[in-house]
Amino acid sequence: MKLNQESGGEPAAVEEVAEGLIRVPLRTPTLPPATRTNTYLVDVGGAWLVVDAGPSKASELERLDVAMRRFIGAAEVAGLLLTHHHRDHVGGTEWWVSSFSAPVYAHARTFEAVPKAYARATARGRRPKRVELVEDAEIGNATALFTEGHARGHFSLRTDASDVLAGDLMAGLGTIVVDPPDGDMSAYFASLRRLRDMPLRGGFPAHGPHDASAHDRIDAYIEHRTAREDRVFAALSLDEPRGLSAVTKRAYDDVPVFLLPMASRSALAHVLKLVDDGRAIAVGDGWRALEP
Ligand SMILES: [Zn+2]
Repeated sequence: MKLNQESGGEPAAVEEVAEGLIRVPLRTPTLPPATRTNTYLVDVGGAWLVVDAGPSKASELERLDVAMRRFIGAAEVAGLLLTHHHRDHVGGTEWWVSSFSAPVYAHARTFEAVPKAYARATARGRRPKRVELVEDAEIGNATALFTEGHARGHFSLRTDASDVLAGDLMAGLGTIVVDPPDGDMSAYFASLRRLRDMPLRGGFPAHGPHDASAHDRIDAYIEHRTAREDRVFAALSLDEPRGLSAVTKRAYDDVPVFLLPMASRSALAHVLKLVDDGRAIAVGDGWRALEP
């Protein structure tokens, strides 16, 4: 199945990817194979919202500044939405707070990751605005969607044109890490299904190229994760508890050995979801299946 309707590879150039939607790929300390985090500039009805500011490096923030001047110009800046607290999404917060009076929108968990940005601004006598998001919220004519799973406090943005800026809920390259307790597989499935039930057009991830159909990408993810969940379930026994490494070895025997430590985090996320779903139970250091 070919999902990317772009030419493939990691986009590096600033580009208008849809009407009123600009992608600004910026170098960040992110996970390979990605080397950049996409910042998006989105027209939310006359004012422009900036989504994610990953880099803390001055030269990368200068690129963002240039893009903002070029595409936003003298129009109003609505604010900065931080999708989640991981460092490759929030590195530019201090720069933002010292450069703009428009608010930062984020979950409380995300603000916890950038304490210095606010401490320094306050020490300089500024009163930077922050808007704590706890659930879906309108920002101009767009909607911030509460979509946890990859990280606590994760938000996506649905634009007026039904494009979804997905943060790390989806990826244009590499895989989405769901690493407990920050990552939560039950929440991840719920977020994917929630987006699947909405009319959506394009899917614009924080890393890599976009998909012309967000639904195609979501369907592929649900299918892939469900297949893995089935394997994790099959790796559990009805009779005896099995520990994480035994479950990982059985459920991920298709994965190279050097990737098993990472796979064990995903295995744990799947096992915890099976417990949530009432299909498994924790016993000592391991888990046992509750149904054949
Ligand atoms: Zn992330």
